[in-house]
Amino acid sequence: MAGSRATLCTWLGCPGLLGCFLLGFLAGWFTKPTEKATNPEGVYQNVRQKLIAEMKAENIKQFLRSFTKLPHLAGTEQNLFLAKQIQGQWKEFGLDSTELVHYDVLLSYPNEMQPNYISIIDDQGNEIFNTSFFEPPPQGYENITGILPPYNAFSAQGVPEADLVYVNYGRTEDFFKLEREMGINCTGKIVIARYGKIFRGNKVKNAILAGAQGIILYSDPADYCAPGVDAYPAGWNLPGGGAQRGNVLNLNGAGDPLTPGYPAKEYTFRYKVKEGVGIPKIPVHPIGYHDAEVLLRAMGGPAAPDSSWKGSLNVPYNLGPGFAHSFSTRKVRMHVQTNNQITRIYNVIGILKGAMEPDRYIILGGHRDSWVFGGIDPTTGVAVLQEIVRSFGKMKMEGWRPKRTIIFASWDAEEFGLLGSTEWAEENARVLQERAVAYINTDSSIEGNYTLRVDCTPLLYKLVYNLTKEISSPDEGYENKSLYKSWLEKDPATENNSYPRINKLGSGSDFEAFFQRLGIASARVRYTKNRKTDKFSNYPVYHTVYETFELVEKFYDPTFRKQLTVAQLRGRLVYELADSHIIPFDCRDYGEALKGYSNRIYKWAKKYEQQLKSYEVSFDPLFSAVVNFSNAAAEFHRRLEQTDTNDVVAVRIVNDQLLLVERAFIDPLGLPDRKFYRHVIFAPSSHNKYAGESFPGIYDALFDIESKADQHGAWEEVKRQISIAAFTVQAAAETLKEVA
Ligand SMILES: [Zn+2]
Repeated sequence: MAGSRATLCTWLGCPGLLGCFLLGFLAGWFTKPTEKATNPEGVYQNVRQKLIAEMKAENIKQFLRSFTKLPHLAGTEQNLFLAKQIQGQWKEFGLDSTELVHYDVLLSYPNEMQPNYISIIDDQGNEIFNTSFFEPPPQGYENITGILPPYNAFSAQGVPEADLVYVNYGRTEDFFKLEREMGINCTGKIVIARYGKIFRGNKVKNAILAGAQGIILYSDPADYCAPGVDAYPAGWNLPGGGAQRGNVLNLNGAGDPLTPGYPAKEYTFRYKVKEGVGIPKIPVHPIGYHDAEVLLRAMGGPAAPDSSWKGSLNVPYNLGPGFAHSFSTRKVRMHVQTNNQITRIYNVIGILKGAMEPDRYIILGGHRDSWVFGGIDPTTGVAVLQEIVRSFGKMKMEGWRPKRTIIFASWDAEEFGLLGSTEWAEENARVLQERAVAYINTDSSIEGNYTLRVDCTPLLYKLVYNLTKEISSPDEGYENKSLYKSWLEKDPATENNSYPRINKLGSGSDFEAFFQRLGIASARVRYTKNRKTDKFSNYPVYHTVYETFELVEKFYDPTFRKQLTVAQLRGRLVYELADSHIIPFDCRDYGEALKGYSNRIYKWAKKYEQQLKSYEVSFDPLFSAVVNFSNAAAEFHRRLEQTDTNDVVAVRIVNDQLLLVERAFIDPLGLPDRKFYRHVIFAPSSHNKYAGESFPGIYDALFDIESKADQHGAWEEVKRQISIAAFTVQAAAETLKEVA
């Protein structure tokens, strides 16, 4: 590791290198006369309209074209070059400061001399079939260097040989079915799981828990091909030779595996790689469906338990272990030689200083690194970020400033476990927990082209609904109608179909450290597929070499209007949060959400009615705290309406209460065995990192409780978790009450 001999004093002596990015600009700010320090109300009234009108679909298209010509894998020269290019453009757009902030984190790359692959071996040990070494590149991209073959980052190295077991999606319930109902033991076996439904890292964790010595991940056409659509490039389906890349860590929010909790700077203590957080101990390798078909075709053992275990390949989907009949002496051998390596990564941080409250921050961040060209993920988000920064810059150059400071961030190494954003959040945690108002994520702006998808804190429901009423729908058949209207018609909420659906935040992108660890109000918005009819997982060519500019231009968003709509919504969220006199959060919606979540978890617990009685488990304290929160929220918003908006101190008091209400849900001790997930109301599901779970402490304590050996202990833990939830909700309610 470079620079490891530098003393802590050297770094502490230099604020720039320490990463006190704010120190520099605040010093500069206060020494300069504040010529545009105030925005007289009315003068810039139309900034919000101008900001929206400034954004152009054509610009987003040009940014996407320019940023997807080459691969931008984290830790490569090409991705550093893109960072510098983005930094340069942000400077031109007029931001007050732009800088590169680096960290030295653990990344993972395949060994160029020893390719990863999987073989079928005969009883002599001869490899009679090998999976492919690379994906056939799309036309026009054949001579581009730096395209790495499909691999699962942070896989263990190894050459395990064993019988194969088919484990469906590798979910908790799939392994329960295999082990408990079908009596199939995965110990010492190589398992093969299809991609989809849950985060791949959870599949790997489940395979390890089941005792497997290796896991193969493959994309089944049932999950990665839409009916009636051609494979890329004729259509947008996954070709048979394509395979999904992706990391297989179980970091639980730790960031860099070697420096959990602390920024991966030169002076930071590092664990050894073998002690790193969340690194799997078995080899993992991804393959396409052409290769998977060969492995699955000859499998023996019991048949798939039901149709939910069958994909759409022309194979029996037998579970194994091993091959059938005359092939039963054949085994599967994995070859994985992927290396973990400490590598420098770079975030780009740009700042637009606030005129009235420079010490209050709204962060708009998204990752820049991609597995290959990043045609959708993340560059449809990078292009949108670029157009938003350009538009804010234009307003600033015309003499406007937001009330509060806006921080723009282009994160690195998201694909390797949200590393760039988490390290930066760790480095600036003290400042952020005091001053951050909200975090808006700007990863991929499309994953489909059917309707809007929003995941956010309940504090932002109202703002999102209001803004979507002011933005035009880009959908066919909704000309001259609002985004709200098309969104409501196409995806109404399940609980109350008079509102469009908004989902809970889980993880899987860079908002994680801000929301789940620091308790900063967060949101992510993008265009998505039709959840009712589109049964394929994600979008078919996700994380493959086929994610190109042409994929987006030909199939997903030819007019770039969906991406423009997402830019308008992300931009407007940032604008309203940064420039509204009163921070546009609504705490009453949090009260309503808490009511729903507490009812839901109680309803679920009630299936153990007998145990609730005999172990004296009561949800009453939680229900009571939720009522108190709702009352405090209603009272708070009544007072808010009567606040004298010319009274600067009174406004600052209520804004501080709004700013800190999400923070009040943070438990400094974290969730059981997941100390970096500290939000008591929300966490990534323990069974699927992508999904959000409400009251995760109680949920996890109740999960599969009937099969726990120590029933008394298990129910004591449920009681402990209910009391933590009740205390936390009550404590949050207290922060909303009149201050004195
Ligand atoms: Zn992404």
